[in-house]
Amino acid sequence: KTGTLTAGQMEVIKVETFPSGREDALMEIAYSVEQESNHPVARAITRYGLEKGCQTLEVKNLHSLTGLGIQAEVGGEKFALGKRELVGDDSRLSDPAAQSLEHTEVWVVGENLLGRILLQDEIRHESRPVMERLKRDGITTMMLTGDNAGAAAPVAKDLGISEVHAGLRPDDKVGLIYQLIKKGHHVAMVGDGVNDAPSLAAAHVSVSMGGRGSDAALEQADVVLVDDRIGKLASALHLSRKSKAIINQNLAISLGTVLVMVAATLIGTVPLTIAVVVHESSTVLVCLNSLRLLFLKDEELLGENSS
Ligand code: ADP
Ligand code: MG
Repeated sequence: KTGTLTAGQMEVIKVETFPSGREDALMEIAYSVEQESNHPVARAITRYGLEKGCQTLEVKNLHSLTGLGIQAEVGGEKFALGKRELVGDDSRLSDPAAQSLEHTEVWVVGENLLGRILLQDEIRHESRPVMERLKRDGITTMMLTGDNAGAAAPVAKDLGISEVHAGLRPDDKVGLIYQLIKKGHHVAMVGDGVNDAPSLAAAHVSVSMGGRGSDAALEQADVVLVDDRIGKLASALHLSRKSKAIINQNLAISLGTVLVMVAATLIGTVPLTIAVVVHESSTVLVCLNSLRLLFLKDEELLGENSS
């Protein structure tokens, strides 16, 4: 979801601490730590901190917790930043205000400080027409996300995606892809993050976002969507289906010609000139047929124009 169906241009909408009152301290810690990450949530937090004039504190022993968040020491105290799972069964979470909402959350967990930053993302405007088009083309779509279920549901509803798996770790995404493959499906995975790289590798066809996509995702990609234009996904599918149809037609034309000529020579005699002309014509026909791909109409190719 994040960065693929949504723009990945997140905005911080709220900073909370439990109990309340230490929002500024929490923001300063998050700002200092997230400068080291380039996940969409990290970029949003860094931008927000800069606007708020946060100071950069000294950060030590920084580790990335794959699929969960990030961990570091700030001012001698250990902090983990990321998914709700990092909080565990903390009694401070009994606060009813700490319910999960319809937002992406980054929890900041320290011994003496607990809180979260709520973020909002925008759905790419091309996402909806692309999902509709894939459906029309007989393709089943499924949303896999590391984000919480509350944030995933409204996006899925808006895009008409009925199957959603939220709160996934990178290896959960791989597991789901293998399950689909085992059931005999042909699977294409579209992703952008470092956390998507393993599942991109597992899928039959991997598609990566070219602009915001991480290097790890790009390295795994069979198809790269330049400028992150998800609309091009429909175009790529259309072009490959047309290509496959033309390849089949060309095989039929060339093998058909050979069969006819063999039959003709067995029955009677075929003058050499005629044989050469027929054979060469079939070659030219195959070339001309392939060239039809060049004339695929732009609107057919541009998925985003179908909106
Ligand atoms: P998606 O699969 O939708 O792209 P991700 O797996 O990239 O989602 O992110 C899921 C969640 O992991 C985020 O909502 C956030 O809570 C947490 N997370 C990931 N990276 C970071 C980070 N650098 N700092 C804080 N939280 C993070
Ligand atoms: Mg992502």
